[in-house]
Amino acid sequence: MSGKPGDEGGAKPRESTPRVARASKPEGTCVRVGRVEIGGPGFVVMAGPCAVEGLEQTEQTATAVAASGAHVLRGGVFKPRTSPYAFQGMGEPGLRVLAEAARKVGLPIVSEVMESAQIPLMAEHVDILQVGARNMQNFPLLRALGKVRKPVLLKRGLAATFQEWMMAAEYLLDGGNEQVILCERGIRTFETAMRNTLDLAAVALAKQRTHLPVIVDPSHATGEPELIQPMALAAAAAGADGLIIEVHPRPEQALCDGQQALTPERFQQLMRRLPGVLHAVDRHLWRPEVPAHVAGAR
Ligand code: PEP
Ligand code: MN
Repeated sequence: MSGKPGDEGGAKPRESTPRVARASKPEGTCVRVGRVEIGGPGFVVMAGPCAVEGLEQTEQTATAVAASGAHVLRGGVFKPRTSPYAFQGMGEPGLRVLAEAARKVGLPIVSEVMESAQIPLMAEHVDILQVGARNMQNFPLLRALGKVRKPVLLKRGLAATFQEWMMAAEYLLDGGNEQVILCERGIRTFETAMRNTLDLAAVALAKQRTHLPVIVDPSHATGEPELIQPMALAAAAAGADGLIIEVHPRPEQALCDGQQALTPERFQQLMRRLPGVLHAVDRHLWRPEVPAHVAGAR
């Protein structure tokens, strides 16, 4: 007997996620994407446009975020839009644009997969498969991604409890995919002053209760450029393993989420401020390990 949300009347919530529970892997999970490690001592920043709109916009953004020190390029080609009349993403041609832009700057890619049928195509070009907030409880999609041997970025649902988010991750691990990155992107509350309410305590809780890396998306969490930097710094202080941030060279012309896009200049400013906060919590921006013999020779 239990009325707790997400419990569905079965076992106690804490026991319903044995595979994501920290006790199952006390040393923690480090997800590797190329050379980048997410969940280790290095803090990882993913950045790029909300949506891939064309080659020029994507290459400009990729060049700018890479120059500022981003580690992973983001960009949606299949966009889950509230309105059926809004730009739905470039689809497959956009994926080729994204891959080309990422190749030129040498960054791995994170991009959203909306349905199981898109997995083979996405897995061919993308390094991290993103499950969007609106799909957090798309169980057939989670099951299918459980069978994929690629990292999955699992966003917390718009109105998902912490426990429901954990159980969505459990689906992926239960399917055999241990390379899961959790992403807090703000939840719906009674508050209307911001796009969503960033639940930073859930980040600290997820770090405590699970062995999975946890990142924060301050772009969707706040919906406002002025709030992105302070919340990004707060996320770093709260123990997040990284960030995912929307950047656009001309936010006013963006086809999707332009109101919350950082300009490349603002993104660069954030990247300059992060090391100070990370230092205070014994972390640093991710950088390749320098082999001991090389480091010693310096
Ligand atoms: C996105 O990353 O552009 C996106 C749609 O995010 P979310 O699923 O968190 O709304
Ligand atoms: Mn977006």
